[in-house]
Amino acid sequence: MKYDFIVVGHGLAGAILSYTLRKRGHRVLVIDEPRPSSASRVAAGLLNPVAGKRFAKSWLADEFIPAADAFYAELGTHFGRELYTHRPIYKIFSTIEEQNTWMAKCASEGWQDYILGTYTQGASQPAVQNPHGGILIGRGGSLLVAEMLDLLTAELLAQNLLLPERFEMDQLQLTGQGVRYKNLEAGHLVFCEGFQVVNNPYFKWLPIQPTKGEVLEVQADNFNPDCIYNKAVYVVPVGAGRFRVGATYNWREPNEQPTEAGRQELEERLSQITPTPFRTIRHLAGIRPAVRDRKPLIGVHPQFSQLSVFNGMGSKGVQMAPYLAQQFSAALAGEAELLPDIRISRYLSLYYDYLKHQNTQL
Ligand SMILES: Cc1cc2nc3c(=O)[nH]c(=O)nc-3n(C[C@H](O)[C@H](O)[C@H](O)COP(=O)(O)OP(=O)(O)OC[C@H]3O[C@@H](n4cnc5c(N)ncnc54)[C@H](O)[C@@H]3O)c2cc1C
Repeated sequence: MKYDFIVVGHGLAGAILSYTLRKRGHRVLVIDEPRPSSASRVAAGLLNPVAGKRFAKSWLADEFIPAADAFYAELGTHFGRELYTHRPIYKIFSTIEEQNTWMAKCASEGWQDYILGTYTQGASQPAVQNPHGGILIGRGGSLLVAEMLDLLTAELLAQNLLLPERFEMDQLQLTGQGVRYKNLEAGHLVFCEGFQVVNNPYFKWLPIQPTKGEVLEVQADNFNPDCIYNKAVYVVPVGAGRFRVGATYNWREPNEQPTEAGRQELEERLSQITPTPFRTIRHLAGIRPAVRDRKPLIGVHPQFSQLSVFNGMGSKGVQMAPYLAQQFSAALAGEAELLPDIRISRYLSLYYDYLKHQNTQL
């Protein structure tokens, strides 16, 4: 059977890329080993246009957010199910200093679209401790990631376009026309393996930093289900009085086991946001495909033009993947250039080092 593309991996990256390629009229086969603890399946699904304690507008927010809005709206229409919900994000100031930092920042250009309000005194919400106030951020929201993946998986399976199994690298052959994999042929193969790209002989030279994260799902009936809260952790509504609370960051423990320490950290941080009771129902862990410079890793292999990679979504896959999938699929069709900041070619020197190392091993 001949395809235009084989996509390996059906997490957020592979699912959004393969849907985008299909929408462009390409025949796409997906190969994915189902993994309940994949980063995408444990993710809280948050999209937040304001990054970190320094109150910076997140990288390329003006490009990523409209593309994400359009993509998830179209997917919602396609499946007749609202998967992405716009919600205000209440970022609570931890200290007066934080409040001051924000007051200095907010006068600068380009913020108006993203801020719904600034509170210098606690807003009167009984479930929330916010003595120094906070900001209400607009244009963010949350995606039901696992539901989205389930719907896309079911659609692909029904059309025989998904092999739910591990991709066996030793079955891959590179040909003059593209690739052969077992009895299948395709013009091009894209790897979207998340952190597991560290085992991929063609792309293991890329500087992925597998970063473990833990998240809780809690029942908290007093919380406002229409708002996302943030102070050291995110509290993201997922329906029926439940919220995902996350996440931890750990570079030293590359496994998907939830830990007691992770649970305590998240519960303590949640207690600092709310004095009202909550009950932990689930505790999950996964590994993010983070990158040294916090930018995605996208592009065609420097030597084998039949292969490419779409990876490095770090902790912002929900926000970045729709725009990047659009740009990459246009680039693969020769219609656009990838942004320099996301190209894997920025790490070409690592590829040459890798080749040198391989040669000395022989
Ligand atoms: C605790 C936690 C919370 C997070 N919260 C958020 C959030 O709120 N918002 C946000 O934007 N991001 C969040 N993230 C980050 C987000 O999860 C990632 O950016 C995104 O999911 C990465 O998607 P991916 O498809 O690249 O990787 P993955 O989700 O890891 O998917 C890779 C897929 O490829 C498959 N695969 C790999 N190798 C093979 C192979 N050889 N053969 C077959 N299949 C293979 C895997 O089984 C998997 O299905 C969070 C991450 C964690 C860990």
